[in-house]
Amino acid sequence: MRRFRFPWMLIKQIPALVVKGWNHPFKDARIILEQQGDLHYLSITASVQKWLVRSAIVTVGGLTLLLTLMVVVNVDLLISRMKLERSHEAVYRALLSSNEQDVAGESIDESQMLTLAQAIRDRDTSIRRFVDMSMVAVSKENETIKTQLQTAGLTEKIVRIIQDNSAKGGFTVNDDLKSNPLLRGKVAEDLETNRSLRDVLYALPSAMPIKSFEITSGFGIRKHPISGRAHFHSGIDLITDDPDERIYPVKSGVVMGAQEHPSYGNMVMVRHSNGIESVYGHLSKVLVKQGDTVGVDTVLGYIGNSGVSTGKHLHLEILIGGYPVNPQNVIRTAQYVQQIKTAR
Ligand SMILES: [Zn+2]
Repeated sequence: MRRFRFPWMLIKQIPALVVKGWNHPFKDARIILEQQGDLHYLSITASVQKWLVRSAIVTVGGLTLLLTLMVVVNVDLLISRMKLERSHEAVYRALLSSNEQDVAGESIDESQMLTLAQAIRDRDTSIRRFVDMSMVAVSKENETIKTQLQTAGLTEKIVRIIQDNSAKGGFTVNDDLKSNPLLRGKVAEDLETNRSLRDVLYALPSAMPIKSFEITSGFGIRKHPISGRAHFHSGIDLITDDPDERIYPVKSGVVMGAQEHPSYGNMVMVRHSNGIESVYGHLSKVLVKQGDTVGVDTVLGYIGNSGVSTGKHLHLEILIGGYPVNPQNVIRTAQYVQQIKTAR
């Protein structure tokens, strides 16, 4: 039997044939057709012959090129798939050999591997479900804290001041949280918001400056006790009928000022963390000086009637980023939060 031999000689002749065909000197030709005794003349000019041959060459050449490309791409795909399959096999073998129970690696078959993979996926799903459920709680808590802050009269702007003045440096999403594949972007943001809002709550002053007191004038617009005109009262006025007239700071901090003021009389100003300050006015006697570090048990001075005042009282102001806020609401909110904190 004769073995089939690839006609290499023919292939080698192709370029020469193409050149020959392309440059062939065609001559006008006439084809005569006979149909039931009638003669039909069909003339084909040299240029038409040349056009036909050249387009045939271009078409066949293009198709050959396309076919070659398709073969190359398919072979490439086949090689990639083989490589991938081999790497899968390698992983599979590695998993088998990592099983310490059997060094030969035959204790886990493919179906057991699938069971294992399913178990891992189930665990992953349940972790995600747990995270989602926890996040609903975090989200709810965030809303509760925001409401608490609003009730305390702290606007978004003031909350932002406290956050920006935080030692941790404002509002940034922790990179560890962000890069955790189980915690998606929204989750990390909610957790960060929660941390930040809690920081705000714990930054708020939570102590009243007098042990036993009564509020005689609230925060906001009021009729001035001396001028009789409507004006904005930037703090609260406190009186006591207790013989103990000591004044304590609303939160630990550093004394920024302890001097006489034309209307506040003998006043003390304390700077706390997170851009929060407190002012104590109309004191009879001041016991601290500028630069002193004070705790909630440090006596700042005594209740008095100095400056523009109609009677013995303490004027208390709390400023956040320079904006006066309602001391009563802020302290009440902070105390409420502290109760939660100790309950936990
Ligand atoms: Zn006042």
